Amino acid sequence: MPETALRVAVVGAGAAGTLTAAQLLRRSAALRVDLEVRLIDPAATTGRGVAYATDSVHHLLNVPAAWMSAYPDVPGDFTDWLDRRAPGVHTGAHHVPRALYGEYLAGVLADAEAGPGPGRLRRIHERVVGVRRTDGGVTPTPTPTPTLTLTLGSGEPLRADAAVLALGNFPPGEAWVPPALHGSPRYLSDPWAPGALAALPREGAALLVGTGLTMVDIALTLGRAGRTVRAVSRHGLLPLPHAESALPTAPPPSLDPGADIHQIRRALLSHVSACRRTYGNWRVGIDSLRPVTAEIWQRLPVTDRARFLRQYQSLWNVHRHRIPPACARALREGMDAGRIRVTPGEVADAVPVEDSVMVRFRDGRTLRVGAVVNCTGPQEDVRRLDDPLVTGLLTSGLAAPDPTGLGFRVAPCGRLHPPADSPPAPLWTLGALRRGALLETSAIPEIRTQAHDIATTVLTTLTATLRRWNA
Ligand SMILES: Cc1cc2nc3c(=O)[nH]c(=O)nc-3n(C[C@H](O)[C@H](O)[C@H](O)COP(=O)(O)OP(=O)(O)OC[C@H]3O[C@@H](n4cnc5c(N)ncnc54)[C@H](O)[C@@H]3O)c2cc1C
Repeated sequence: MPETALRVAVVGAGAAGTLTAAQLLRRSAALRVDLEVRLIDPAATTGRGVAYATDSVHHLLNVPAAWMSAYPDVPGDFTDWLDRRAPGVHTGAHHVPRALYGEYLAGVLADAEAGPGPGRLRRIHERVVGVRRTDGGVTPTPTPTPTLTLTLGSGEPLRADAAVLALGNFPPGEAWVPPALHGSPRYLSDPWAPGALAALPREGAALLVGTGLTMVDIALTLGRAGRTVRAVSRHGLLPLPHAESALPTAPPPSLDPGADIHQIRRALLSHVSACRRTYGNWRVGIDSLRPVTAEIWQRLPVTDRARFLRQYQSLWNVHRHRIPPACARALREGMDAGRIRVTPGEVADAVPVEDSVMVRFRDGRTLRVGAVVNCTGPQEDVRRLDDPLVTGLLTSGLAAPDPTGLGFRVAPCGRLHPPADSPPAPLWTLGALRRGALLETSAIPEIRTQAHDIATTVLTTLTATLRRWNA
């Protein structure tokens, strides 16, 4: 490779990293940039990450296929792929198995790799455990030396002109976990860890803590294996189902720019009611908010964002992050048959005893179960993560937490915003690590746009630097 080839490290090869790598390769063709994309992830597969690694046909996409194209400018790309793979089997309104989507994403990257551009892809199956600047903190760099050195789990250094952090969802937080449960074979801290569910002791009911999307998947998986499931969360709310058929779309509401959180809440409720009256379904109103959610979020002062997360997030989640109708039916059947029971409840204590776990709730109830599964969803507060890369970025000053704690502080283009006065490093992020800035950021419709925009920004920034070197 000539000395002037640009090296962009993409850390994480889930959906976000895979789409970023594909977009970088495609953009390198358009911009005629000599580029090596280094896609780094310990996982053996590409494009699957946590969500699409499952091989169960019962694990369905939470949104209809028509919303899941890899490319913001080619909305039919996924449905066309489905049709080529199995003509006439799926429509855009179907919730198809997530495993199929993982296959599609791997194909998207393979196509970009085989494309006409000068860009090359190098896959590195390792974890990145650290990043440091090696240009003395000067941006843009005055000489063609790499500006970042990544440290791989093996200890190997890897140089890069820029890096995109696509680290995705971290394991669930454990602040609620009673000390006696830690280390018990009857407690599962991360239900998405490969093989973890299968390793749970089989006898007795399972208590799932959390009643969101993760709980639904895990309850249905355990229920199919003949296991009784109890699920609790503070509110006991379940994700609502998607409509059985495609819905019309409505324009988003126009909001007074000076509105505070209470006025916004009232305006949104009346918008959803108006949509229910006009279109016969409240979901139309919720879905119409998607293009303006980040803008509304960014208008709120940090105190109101914190208030939203404390008071309204659960209600928002059950309406916004819905489940496929087939999953809702299976859940209802399980509940009607008494195999699945969902109630409000907060674990106060849990102690493993011989062949079970004795759980005590804050309201004084007790329950004996065979296993406890943490379904509280990914830990999103970067200050609480036990991850060497994230912790290192925070302590070295290359990154700062968002004021809400949810992910990193970022510029609108996703570039990491270091603490005040430090020059930004050539580090970008997308997906869950931008939650504090955007609120809704971890589903494909958001991720594909971020991947497209980051690829353009990174290459434009680096080629401008290259031009200066060559001038
Ligand atoms: C069960 C589930 C179902 C979902 N269903 C849908 C759906 O139907 N539709 C939808 O739009 N969204 C869905 N989502 C949202 C989902 O978060 C996104 O669609 C997408 O999968 C997120 O991809 P990601 O790459 O950001 O994260 P992840 O899938 O979490 O991938 C992150 C990758 O980064 C790697 N990594 C992390 N740290 C390092 C490191 N230090 N070094 C190297 N590699 C690292 C990990 O190994 C992992 O492979 C679902 C999420 C879950 C959990």
